[in-house]
Amino acid sequence: MSTADAHRPDALVIGGGIGGLSAALALTRKGLRVRLHERAARFGEVGAGLQIAPNCTRILADHGLLDEAVALGVLPEHIVMKDAVDAGELTRLDLQDLERRYGFPYLVIHRGDLHGIFLRACERGGVELVNGSHCVAYENIPGGARVTFAGGGSDEAEVVIAADGLHSVARGLLVRDEPVGSAYVAYRAALPFDEVRGNGVHERDVVVYVGPRCHFVQYPLRAGRMLNQVAVFESPKALAGEADWGTPDELDRAFDGTCAQIRKGLPLMWRDRWWRMFDRDPITNWVDGRIALLGDAAHPPLQYMAQGAVMAIEDGWVLAEHVGAQRPRRSRRSSGVDWAAALAAYEAVRPEHCGRVITTARAWGEFWHHDGTRRLRRNALLRSRDTYDYTFTDWIYGPTALTPEQEPEPCPTIPLDSVELGTPAGQGLPLGSGGL
Ligand SMILES: Cc1cc2nc3c(=O)[nH]c(=O)nc-3n(C[C@H](O)[C@H](O)[C@H](O)COP(=O)(O)OP(=O)(O)OC[C@H]3O[C@@H](n4cnc5c(N)ncnc54)[C@H](O)[C@@H]3O)c2cc1C
Repeated sequence: MSTADAHRPDALVIGGGIGGLSAALALTRKGLRVRLHERAARFGEVGAGLQIAPNCTRILADHGLLDEAVALGVLPEHIVMKDAVDAGELTRLDLQDLERRYGFPYLVIHRGDLHGIFLRACERGGVELVNGSHCVAYENIPGGARVTFAGGGSDEAEVVIAADGLHSVARGLLVRDEPVGSAYVAYRAALPFDEVRGNGVHERDVVVYVGPRCHFVQYPLRAGRMLNQVAVFESPKALAGEADWGTPDELDRAFDGTCAQIRKGLPLMWRDRWWRMFDRDPITNWVDGRIALLGDAAHPPLQYMAQGAVMAIEDGWVLAEHVGAQRPRRSRRSSGVDWAAALAAYEAVRPEHCGRVITTARAWGEFWHHDGTRRLRRNALLRSRDTYDYTFTDWIYGPTALTPEQEPEPCPTIPLDSVELGTPAGQGLPLGSGGL
C-alpha cells in the first residue's frame, strides 16, 4: 500500500451544512474513513430556528445525539395554525400525543446548535474536516471519484457525496435544471424572549399564522430563552422580475391587514437581510457512478413542510444503513463496501419520498396563502380536522423507509372546491400536511 493509499479516505463529502455533516457522521459510524470539504473558511449556519419532526429525531436518537439536541432546543407542546387576518385558531397538533404515536418528539432548535452538534460528533468520530475547499468539478475515475477545487488541487475516494446545497455543482452531472424561484421572500429573527413577553406570543407552541400571500411563524428556542420568527410574503417586485425584490417596505405592506400579534412581531425581524424561496423540480436520478447527491443538492424544497434539513439527515442515515447492512470487510486497498449496491439501494428509495415532499410543500404553501372565498374554504377545512387525526402525518413522521416497500402510501387529497361553506366540511386536510 502506498502512502497515498494509506491516507486516502473511503468517502469524500462535499459541503459542511447540516446534510454534509450528518452524512459524514453516519458513514463514519459504519467504520468508514471520511473527509469533508467545505467551501467556507469556517463552519456555520444562519442564526435562526429549525423544526425537526419525529422522522428525524428518531435518527438523532440512533446517532446518540437526541439528548444533546433536546437539552439545547425546546420540545414544544403544540403546533397551532391560525388565520393571519383575524388570529382565529384553525387547527392544532398535540405534540405530546404526536410523540406517543411516532415514538420520538417534535423538536425546535437553533440552526447553529444543531449544526454544532453534528460538527462536534464528526470531530469525535474522526471525520477529517477541511475548510476553504471550493469544489468546482466532479468526475468518476476507476474505482472511485475525484473532485477538483478552485485553485487547482483535487481529492479522490471510493465515493463522493455531494451535499453542496441548492446551487450544487454535482447536480449538473445528472440533470440540466435550475432552481425554481418562487416570488416568496423570508425574513427571519431570533431574539431574547424577554423582548416579546406580553405580545401575545405562545411560550411553548409553534404558531403559524396563514394569510393572503403571506405567513408568519413563531416558536421558542434555547430552552425558551429565545423566540424564532419567520415572516414570508409574496414580493410584488419579485413577481415583476425586478432585481431589488423583498425590501423592508414590501415586508410591511405585505402584512397590512394582519392581526395585532403579527404586527407586534414585524418590527423585530432582522431587516438587513432576507431570503428568496427556491426549490427545484423533483428528479429520480441522484447517482452518477460513484458520485451521489444528498440534501438540498438532491431535493431542495420550499420550506412549508419543514422537512428540508430533516430529509438531508434522513438521506445520510439511509445511505449509511445500506453500507452497514453489507458488513463490509476492509482490505488493504479498499473499505470493502459494494458501492454499486449501496448507492442503488439509496437511489431506489429516497428520490420517491423526497419528490413527494417537494410537490406537497408547493401545494401546502399555495393552500396557506389563499385569499377571498378560497381562504374561507381553507379555514372551514382546517377547522373540521380532528386534532388527533393522523391521516395526513403518518406518511411523513413515521420511520424513514430503507426500501421502496417500506415507503408509505401517499395520503389522500381533498379538493378545496369540495368544501361547502357554512356546512361541516369533510374530514381531514387536503394535503400531506406534515409541517404545520
Ligand atoms: C426560511 C426557511 C426555513 C426552513 N425551515 C426548516 C425547518 O424548519 N426544518 C427543516 O428540516 N428544514 C427547514 N428549511 C430547509 C433547510 O434549511 C435546508 O433544506 C437544509 O439546511 C439543507 O441542508 P444542506 O446541508 O443540504 O445544504 P446547505 O445548508 O445549503 O449546505 C451546503 C453546504 O455546502 C457548501 N458548499 C456549497 N457549494 C460548495 C462547493 N462548491 N464546494 C464546497 N462546499 C460547498 C456550503 O457552503 C454549505 O455549507 C428551511 C429553509 C428556509 C429557507
